[in-house]
Amino acid sequence: MAATINLLDLDPAALARWCSELGEKPFRAKQLQRWIHQFGEHDFEAMTDLAKSLREKLGQHASVAAPPIISDHTSSDGTRKWLLEVGSGNAVECVFIPEVSRGTLCVSTQAGCAVNCRFCSTGKQGFSRNLSAGEIIGQLWMAESLLRRGFGVPAGPKGERQITNVVLMGMGEPLLNYEPTVAALRLMLDDNAYGLSRRRVTVSTSGVVPMMDKLSQDCPVALAVSLHASNDALRDELVPLNKKYPLPELMSACQRYLEFAPRDFLTFEYCMLDGVNDTDTHARELIALVADVPCKLNLIPFNPFPESGLKRSPQPRIKAFAQLLTDAGIVTTIRKTRGDDIDAACGQLAGEVQDRTRVQERMQKMTEYQQKYGKDFGRIVEIPG
Ligand code: SAH
Ligand code: SF4
Repeated sequence: MAATINLLDLDPAALARWCSELGEKPFRAKQLQRWIHQFGEHDFEAMTDLAKSLREKLGQHASVAAPPIISDHTSSDGTRKWLLEVGSGNAVECVFIPEVSRGTLCVSTQAGCAVNCRFCSTGKQGFSRNLSAGEIIGQLWMAESLLRRGFGVPAGPKGERQITNVVLMGMGEPLLNYEPTVAALRLMLDDNAYGLSRRRVTVSTSGVVPMMDKLSQDCPVALAVSLHASNDALRDELVPLNKKYPLPELMSACQRYLEFAPRDFLTFEYCMLDGVNDTDTHARELIALVADVPCKLNLIPFNPFPESGLKRSPQPRIKAFAQLLTDAGIVTTIRKTRGDDIDAACGQLAGEVQDRTRVQERMQKMTEYQQKYGKDFGRIVEIPG
């Protein structure tokens, strides 16, 4: 057996296999999984209902290790953001958004992103590497146990869960890091881990068509598709992946996904870019484009960053655009900005991080941007319904 294995990397089936290699019965794997994911425990000696011999074996061969925290900030609106180290000078973000009736965790799946959408600073920073399953689920593991402690409730069997929803909308394209993403999703859904229902877990994708089909078979959670354009020529420019999987193919894939989706609609995300994709003509084209796909439209006011050369659509334009969609019978929401005062900009900060010193530099740069672009230079979050 290999020297040490990070148990966060194992989905329920893999953990059961690993335990059986240790000579343990399947129920032991479930017990162990509950300790790790339900009670947030990483110390095998604290897992008191496991036999001492098993605790010793675990101590020798395994660990439970989430990515180290570089920074941890809470905004005045309660949004809490962690910057996590994932090795080789890379860092990713994880953001918790509390609301009255739910708590949503926004999770990253890659350090950087190869899709290189024009309006996304994660994309501009290029692709560094895929996160492992342990680094993806480790964000939920870490956030859940810190949040429970933060609310004065001890992590453990009696702790109330703070995170009711998970969205894979942090850095990276989840469907281009498929296996680790699905392993993490399986843990999110497993009753002996986080026990979230499929409709409370959302994968956001820029439209990796074959992997959408695969996800519909392997783990059909809620799906959000980042559309951002109403025709192929414009989408080719904004989301370069569109050249590979153009809109007719993407729309068909959406329809196919709906047969397996946990709800009878999908969410389309549409980033509002001043003068680029926000005219009445675009709205009408968009209405025609999605006519055959039961969906909800989520309009995201663009979160500016200097290198983009793009501007956020003015609020009245966003409202007029939303009105046209609503009048056509499409449920439309405008995403609100959260966590402004802690620079909780999803994908806006971590990608360029080389080391802790660079984090300081970036923090400084972010403060300058805020002074230049105003308080609104913050994270924009999706709270899927
Ligand atoms: N790669 C996946 C998931 C991560 S991006 C995807 O593209 O769907 C999550 C969301 O943030 C996407 O809808 C993306 O379009 C949006 N986004 C990226 N950069 C943004 C920016 N500068 N302003 C507003 N939204 C942005
Ligand atoms: Fe990647 Fe999503 Fe950013 Fe596009 S919007 S570059 S797919 S993270």
